[in-house]
This record gives sequence, structure tokens and C-alpha cells, in this order.
Amino acid sequence: MSQRVVVIGGGLAGIAAAVRLADAGHVPIVLETRRKLGGRATSFPDQRSGRALDNCQHVLMGCCTALLSLYERLGVSDRIEWHERLYWFREDGGCDLLKPGLLPAPLHTAGGFLRMKLLDRAAKSEIRRAMWRMLRGGHRLRSTWRDQTFGDFLQDQRQSPETTRLFWDTIIISACNLPSSEVAAEHGMQVFQEAFLPSRWAGTMGLPTVPLASLYDPAESIIRDAGGELRLGCSVREICTENRKAVGVMTSDEMVRGDAIVSTVPPDRLAKLLPDEIRSTDRRLQGLDQFEFSPILGVHLHFDAEVMDRPHLILAGRNVHWIFNKGFDEEGRHHLHVVISAADDWMELDEETIVNQVMEEIRRALPGAVDQDPVTVRAIKEKRATFRATPEIEPCRPTSAPGSVGLQGGDIDRLYLGGDWCATGWPATMEGAVRSGYIAAAAINGTDSGIEEVPAGRLAGWLGLSSSHR
Ligand SMILES: Cc1cc2nc3c(=O)[nH]c(=O)nc-3n(C[C@H](O)[C@H](O)[C@H](O)COP(=O)(O)OP(=O)(O)OC[C@H]3O[C@@H](n4cnc5c(N)ncnc54)[C@H](O)[C@@H]3O)c2cc1C
Repeated sequence: MSQRVVVIGGGLAGIAAAVRLADAGHVPIVLETRRKLGGRATSFPDQRSGRALDNCQHVLMGCCTALLSLYERLGVSDRIEWHERLYWFREDGGCDLLKPGLLPAPLHTAGGFLRMKLLDRAAKSEIRRAMWRMLRGGHRLRSTWRDQTFGDFLQDQRQSPETTRLFWDTIIISACNLPSSEVAAEHGMQVFQEAFLPSRWAGTMGLPTVPLASLYDPAESIIRDAGGELRLGCSVREICTENRKAVGVMTSDEMVRGDAIVSTVPPDRLAKLLPDEIRSTDRRLQGLDQFEFSPILGVHLHFDAEVMDRPHLILAGRNVHWIFNKGFDEEGRHHLHVVISAADDWMELDEETIVNQVMEEIRRALPGAVDQDPVTVRAIKEKRATFRATPEIEPCRPTSAPGSVGLQGGDIDRLYLGGDWCATGWPATMEGAVRSGYIAAAAINGTDSGIEEVPAGRLAGWLGLSSSHR
């Protein structure tokens, strides 16, 4: 039976839930505080450069199956450019190219890895040992390490601090927005077991070629065609309940009723939408205060002359992590975007200091930038970019659907939860957000979420990464 479902939040989780609900014949009413869709993965019109800029470069990978299916449904898959080659900048000024060769996964990058001058022989042999452990241990290894950090696992695998700094943390900080010493072991392992090891496609990097916000434009007509509504600039103040059942939400103007409510706002926001006495009786809401956040800094720079010819550079072991080459704008200015993850130390710095430090790193890595100053800059601090995916927070991540047993005979009926912080098995990513939205919609439909994993290649599967090992 068709239900009128109020979706709070128009980030990726809210969009995914609304599109799935619309496709299943329900009527989604999406309420979003901001005047645009996309939440933390969006763009804004920048007055200084006169261009639409992303709040930050967002990277996806072939293993992001739910996100890719959403892009497919929105008809925007052709706006993702795929990169098989990764360029690693070395401290001696050289650059290593890590690209797949002819061997089957998990050996597809072995040739490039062995040629990397960034790492000496001892480091490579340490890395091989830990990779082999993750490969052979398969997905079950994650449960063995559930309460520990990825750093604990690396120590167990006798990885030196230098190998961790140059290799593991270069990947983990970018992927999980936390260093390996803090991130839950299961998420650290997930990066390698689901992206880099199982197949060539799973580890291919995707970058949107258009401003992020424009990827979501088609969502509006999908929602409207289902008889639903997209209300931008509309803040929810409270989730309304009657007899322990969610019946609607209160905005600044009115009550919006629904047969079900899907909240996709971050945990601290959700805490404000429910009175304490309701929160304290729903098992899913007990950990909302436990979530902490890790910041990301993105810096856009425009130059009068070309300063970089490679598509990107990974700055291994540095405190500036990636430089993305965003090409030329209509005025012929060259646009670079620099990303600094786990950027706690940068949050108190002013823009001038940030740009000076970033330019120092750019000039070290890009000879073309040595005599160049940027003509426009824009540093964007996202202080609450992602929740900190530590081992301690994992048990606090709630399931979407209300349980029928619990503190007062069951959770709040008809209230569903989504958002990258919910229990999806993924750290805070676009993929995790979309999965949470699909899971919430499936719980309302009473169907399976339909999320598929990228199958491991035959050899990788045989060695330990097959789906039967999950
Ligand atoms: C700087 C940065 C870089 C990132 N880089 C990557 C990356 O490279 N790859 C990757 O996969 N992920 C990346 N992420 C993470 C990714 O952006 C998020 O995990 C994902 O977008 C979260 O989506 P969401 O829908 O769960 O939450 P959100 O995007 O936070 O959406 C929640 C929405 O709810 C709205 N809202 C809040 N309160 C209310 C209310 N009371 N009423 C109505 N609406 C409300 C908000 O305005 C927001 O639009 C990055 C994040 C940041 C910030």
C-alpha cells in the first residue's frame, strides 16, 4: 500500500531513501533545511572565482555499488570520470605511478607496487605480509579485530612506523578521515578487502566531472512524479509522536503528517528533534551523544598559468594529502583543489596561513607552481565532516528500523533512521549514506535493500575474499 513518507534531510541518504520510496510507489515528502540538495557532498556559488565550487572533492570507487546505482537511477553516471592510475609524489621530488597491470586481482597492482621508489624493500615486504593476512583472513578477520584499531592490526603485522606513515596512513587518512591509530580495524581492512584487493574495477577511482550539486537535480522530478514534494529551505524542529508512534514532523510553519518518518540528519541534529523522554526509550537513540567528528579542509586555488599536468597527486606521508587537477575554467585559469583530511590542526588557522602552507606543499610537488601565486583562493573548513569511525563508536551506530522489543516494549514505531552514521558497515562516506537510505526505504517496503557487492575476481575470491567468506 502506498505510504506518505516524510524524509528529513536532503543529503545523499535522504535522496537515496526518497528515490527508492518513489520507485516503490510511495509518496516521499523531503524536507531540507538548506536551499539545495546534497548535504555534505554539494557545491555552492563562489563569489571570488565566479564559479560553482564543491565544498570538497568527493572521491568514489568502483566498490561503491549503492552510490553508483543511485547515479544510474538519476541518469548521471556519465558525469563520473574513472581513473585507474594513482600518482604518488615522493619526498625526493619524483613520482610513482601505481596502476593495474595484466595479472589478475589481487596481483593486478603488484608490478606497479614493486616499482614504487617511495618504499624500500623492507617496507614492501612488511606491506605484503599485512596484505596477505587481510586477503587470507577474508571478511571474517574483521570480526576478530572488532574492538581494536587498524593501527593495532598493523602493529601485530610488524609494520614499522615509517611504513605506516608513508603507505598505510596515506591511504587510510584519505579513505576514513582518521589515522590508522584511531580508525576501527574493520574499516581499515575494508578499504583493502573491498577496494584494492578484490578486483581491478573495485579499486578504480571515480571523480565527478560536474559540480556535485548538479548530480542531484534529477531527484526532484522523480519525487514529484511519485506525487511527492521536495521542500528546500524547510527545517524540521521536532519529530512528533503519538502513543510511541511517529506521526509527523513540526517545521517552523506547520505540522507535516506522514505514515512513516525517515530521519537522515546527523546524530547531534537528531538528538535535538526528539524530546529526552522519547529518546531515552528507543534503543537506537541511546548512543547519539557518543558521536564525535573529524574535520576536512578543502582549498580551491585558481592560477593564471598551467601549474600541473597530472590528473592528481597523492602526497605520501605529508600533512597535505591530495592535489586534484580540476582543469581550466572559462577564463583560462587553472583550478587546483587541495584536500587535507583529519585536519584538526588546521581548523584554527586563518585563510592566509592555510594558503601559505598549502602553497609551500604545492611548490614542493609541482615545479610549474614555483613562480606562481594563485589569483583566487577559497579554503573551506568542514569541522564536522565525518563521524570518527573508531572501534568504540561501532556499537552505537543504530539500525534503521524500529525494534519490537526494547526499553519500553519497543522502539518508536514508524520512525526509520538513515545517514552515514547508521549501521551500514561502512565508515562515513557517500556510499555509506546511500546504503543507509536504501536500507531505510527497504525497511518501510518490507523488502530487501537490493545492495550488491562487487564480486571478487576468481583468484582473489579463492584466496579468501569470496562472498562466502563474509
Ligand atoms: C569535506 C568533506 C569531504 C568528503 N569527502 C568524501 C569523499 O571523498 N568520498 C566519500 O565517499 N565521502 C566523503 N565525504 C563524506 C560524505 O560527504 C558524507 O558521508 C555524506 O555526504 C553524508 O550524507 P548524509 O545524507 O548521511 O548526511 P548529510 O549530507 O549531512 O545530509 C543531512 C542533511 O540534513 C539536513 N538537515 C539537518 N538538519 C535538518 C533539519 N532539522 N531539517 C531538515 N533538514 C535538515 C542537512 O542540511 C543535510 O542536507 C566527505 C565529507 C566532507 C564534509
